[in-house]
Amino acid sequence: MSKSLDGKTALVTGGSRGIGRSIAERLAKEGAMVALTYNASKAGAEEVVAAIEKAGGSAFALHADLADARAIPALFEALDIELGKRKGSKALDILVNNAGNSGWGGLSDATPESWDTMFAVHARAPFFVVQSALSRLSDGGRIINISSGLGTRPLPAVPIYAMAKAASNNLTHALAMELGKRSITVNAVAPGWTRTDMNAAVRENADMVKAIEADTALGRFGEPSEIASVVAFLASDEGRWVTAQVIEASGGYKL
Ligand code: NAP
Repeated sequence: MSKSLDGKTALVTGGSRGIGRSIAERLAKEGAMVALTYNASKAGAEEVVAAIEKAGGSAFALHADLADARAIPALFEALDIELGKRKGSKALDILVNNAGNSGWGGLSDATPESWDTMFAVHARAPFFVVQSALSRLSDGGRIINISSGLGTRPLPAVPIYAMAKAASNNLTHALAMELGKRSITVNAVAPGWTRTDMNAAVRENADMVKAIEADTALGRFGEPSEIASVVAFLASDEGRWVTAQVIEASGGYKL
C-alpha cells in the first residue's frame, strides 16, 4: 500500500527527543527518508534512527548546535553528502524547524546572553535553516515551524520564549508569501502543553498540573504524537492548500 510521503525526504531539527522525535517517527512511517538533528542527545538520536529502521523506515542523524549560526551551513553540507549517498540527490521536500532549548526566560532573571540564546535557537536558527534549505527544497515542498500557543497568547512568566515564538509565527507568514510562487507551503504548528522533557519540572508540580488541565478544554496535557499528526497532514498532499497558517494543537488551551 502506498504511503502519503513515499519517496519524499524530510529534515527535522531537534529530532532526538520529545516532539521532534515523534515528528521524525511519524514522517518516516508515512514513507519519508528522515534526517534528524541533535545537539546534546547523540544517544537519543541514535535510538530514534534505530526505532525508525526497526519499524521499516529510513533515517539518519546529524549533529548541529543551532544556538551557533555557523553550524547551519555545515549541517547542510553534511545533509547533502548523506542524501547524495542514500538517494543520489540532495533534494529536500519537507523541512520541520522544531529544535528548542528548554530555557524559558523570565523578566527579572533574564540577561542579554540568555535572551540571545533563546532567540538564536527559536527565531534565528529557523530563518537561516530556511535560507540554507531554499536551494535544496523542491518546488511543492513544505516548511513547518513548531511554534507555541504562547506566540499569540503570551504567558507573563516567560516573555522571551513567547517573543521568540511570535517571531516564528511572523516568519511563517513572510515565507509563505515569498515561497508561494514555488508552491511551497509554510505553516506553523503551535502546541499547547505537551508531555516532554521541556516541562518535566512543571508536571512534577501538582497544583500547576491541575491549573493547566483546568485551563484546557480537553482537560489534559497533549502527547508528542498529537503534534506529529498535524505535521504529517501539513506535509502530505492533503495539506497542499493550507499555507501561512499558525495551527494551534493545544486541546483548547486558555479559551
Ligand atoms: P524537548 O523534549 O526538550 O526537546 C528539545 C529538542 O530540541 C531536542 O531534540 C534537543 O536536542 C533540541 N535542541 C535544544 N537545544 C538545541 C540547540 N541549541 N541546537 C540544536 N538542537 C537543540 O522539547 P519539546 O517539548 O519536544 O520541544 C520541541 C519544540 O516544541 C520546541 O520548539 C518547543 O518550543 C515547542 N513547544 C513545546 C511545547 C511543550 O509543551 N512541550 C509547547 C509548545 C511548543 P538535544 O537533546 O540533542 O540537545
